[in-house]
Amino acid sequence: MHPLLEKKGFIVDVDGVVGRGDTPIPEGVMAVNRLRKLGKRIVFVSNNSTRSRRILFERLRRFGLEIKEEEIIVTTHATAVYIRDENKKARVYTTGEEGLKDELRLAGLEIVDYDEADYLVVGLNRYITYSDIKKALRLCLRNDVRYIATNPDRLYPAEDGPIPGTGMIVGALYWMTGREPDVIIGKPSRVIMEQALKTLGLEGEEVAVIGDQLDVDVPAGKEIKADTALVLTGVTTEKNLNELKKRHGFEPDYVLRTLNSIFGD
Ligand SMILES: [Mg+2]
Repeated sequence: MHPLLEKKGFIVDVDGVVGRGDTPIPEGVMAVNRLRKLGKRIVFVSNNSTRSRRILFERLRRFGLEIKEEEIIVTTHATAVYIRDENKKARVYTTGEEGLKDELRLAGLEIVDYDEADYLVVGLNRYITYSDIKKALRLCLRNDVRYIATNPDRLYPAEDGPIPGTGMIVGALYWMTGREPDVIIGKPSRVIMEQALKTLGLEGEEVAVIGDQLDVDVPAGKEIKADTALVLTGVTTEKNLNELKKRHGFEPDYVLRTLNSIFGD
């Protein structure tokens, strides 16, 4: 039996583990459903900052995953929860798309224009304009404004090559002002990982963190002292594994061809 099967809970990444965009990865989906049948607690954690939890939930259900909406932690929702817990009356200006705005509103937070804001929330926006960046810049220059970034992803691999992540905005603000976010919510930050442990009701030592990105999922697992397993169904492949290990200097506890490999398949 694979040693990871002794864990009580699993924190599972979405893209590259159970799906690629809108397409399911059958081995990943099957493995999660098998873990569930064994009575394991499961929570999905995604750095996606453009989609609401509801939208991601519907996508995972379409993949054939038997899950509840509460078992999904996505940076849009996690950011909203974090700010609500810190300051219920926060007035937020965000660079983000509708998915992020929806979650901020659902958490009871007020979304305002930049000159009324005391929180700047930076999330990816694929339609961002010069004016949006100008507003974020002006908030960034104010010390009385709290600056939160949904996630630190610099870029994503797409079918036709790399595409910009939230880093395109965080990076632009840093270049202009020298300021970095006060808090980053998404992996490898422990903020989102602690929300995941809270959802599972477990300690880090009792869970395994599964993901496809050596520089994101592995340090995220190490933040909470969980065992980590890298799957080769996404960004990391058999071909680039050694090169990525050298480049990032992280070592997962286990490498799995697919998530289903923990069942010996
Ligand atoms: Mg991934």
